[in-house]
Amino acid sequence: MTNRILSYLLCTTLAASPAATFAHGTNHAVLPEGVVGEIETTNVKMRFENVVIRGARVFNGCDEELSSADVLVSGQLIKKIGPDIEAPEGAFEINAEGHTLIPGLIDAHWHGIFAEATIGQLALTGEGYWNLLAAKAQNNALSRGFTTVRDTAGPMFDIAKATDQGLIDGPRVFPSGPALSITAGHQDFRLTREVPQAAGELHSFERGNMFYITDGVPDVLKRTRENLMQGATQIKLMAGGGVTSAYDPIHTIQFTGEEFRAAVEATEAWGTYVTTHAINNEAVVHSIENGARSVEHAHMSTRETLQMFKDNDVWLSMQPFLDDEDAPALNEFQKAKYKFVTDGTDFVYRTAKELGLKIAFGTDTLFSADLAKRQGAVLAKMQRWFTPYETLKMATCDNAELLKLSGPLTPYPLGPLGVIEEGAYADMILVAGNPLENLDLISDPKENFGMIMKDGVIYKYDIE
Ligand SMILES: [Zn+2]
Repeated sequence: MTNRILSYLLCTTLAASPAATFAHGTNHAVLPEGVVGEIETTNVKMRFENVVIRGARVFNGCDEELSSADVLVSGQLIKKIGPDIEAPEGAFEINAEGHTLIPGLIDAHWHGIFAEATIGQLALTGEGYWNLLAAKAQNNALSRGFTTVRDTAGPMFDIAKATDQGLIDGPRVFPSGPALSITAGHQDFRLTREVPQAAGELHSFERGNMFYITDGVPDVLKRTRENLMQGATQIKLMAGGGVTSAYDPIHTIQFTGEEFRAAVEATEAWGTYVTTHAINNEAVVHSIENGARSVEHAHMSTRETLQMFKDNDVWLSMQPFLDDEDAPALNEFQKAKYKFVTDGTDFVYRTAKELGLKIAFGTDTLFSADLAKRQGAVLAKMQRWFTPYETLKMATCDNAELLKLSGPLTPYPLGPLGVIEEGAYADMILVAGNPLENLDLISDPKENFGMIMKDGVIYKYDIE
């Protein structure tokens, strides 16, 4: 067994910690050092019947102009916005002068289970441990002001449920559940010596909802429906070559048109949509032609393909991947693939902006607690292509529009997300200063976020 685990770590070409070392003599220390990372976490949990925030400038998420208004939160919703609101008896009043009130941030491409854990760590442990890791990653995301995430692959159904029930503290989750991948596709994380796999036999990762290997229409339909059964708010297909995966060259197209359309039909029958992992241009075209409503990455898209997004009203959910300090640790095979991604980032953002595409913001942080900490810094990086206003709007108002594609499957039907308006969910951040003038404030939430509220509950409070 031990040999098998070690060989997994040694064989895998995925982004396991290069500094993986093993302690001897205790069963409890077999994980690579440094993989758990520093605990960031939120600092309080305060719930009041009513909260009044006074004196802040308000960015409502959609409009560039800030307003000066008081905001009354009652329970989990924003009840009133206006001048000189009278505080209900017993209300918690916040004097937020010098601060800007903005909607809680939304990460449209997140993996609660993969963000901070390494592949090695996931291979060595079971679902109980994965959930504890994910719970911590979620709490850390909340401590950075991310109050909602669209989880685009991974075993997150239980985390989403536990968050909504208050068992753990983290962002709201729109879970895709396990992504569907073809054999040898972007999420086939099996070892080569584990195939051939007998028909009908599930891999341990599949049993743990980590991913599903699906080949053929009946298989695709079954797995799509099983995800919907478990609470998926959208379905994720791995439609083309990826960077961190072991067997798929970047140029590949994954899923036949027939398989693809089967997933789309079953998903749309439930009132929601398919989003795809597609980096190379042909996989992006394949996704749009077969009915995806949102495409993740798309870094190698040509101008004609970007025009297809516009013509078909499809969301571009790209990440600001560059060859910089946020690049993941990769082996040579992966590095060669990653270059195609980083080479495309600048062109795609510039052209998408020019064409007026619907652009979502997401980080897609993988396998690194240190990178996950930079979630806000990755958002601030969007300044290369967009104004601070455009960037903040993307991570709030616009991302919330994308989430609306889940239609009747939204877990949060009481009001809008990603905006500060009467009737909206009370997900808000008080930023010391004005992030619409200085977006870098978002990079350091520990220092600059005076308050983080989700669902009317205050999870960080640091106002003098
Ligand atoms: Zn991803």
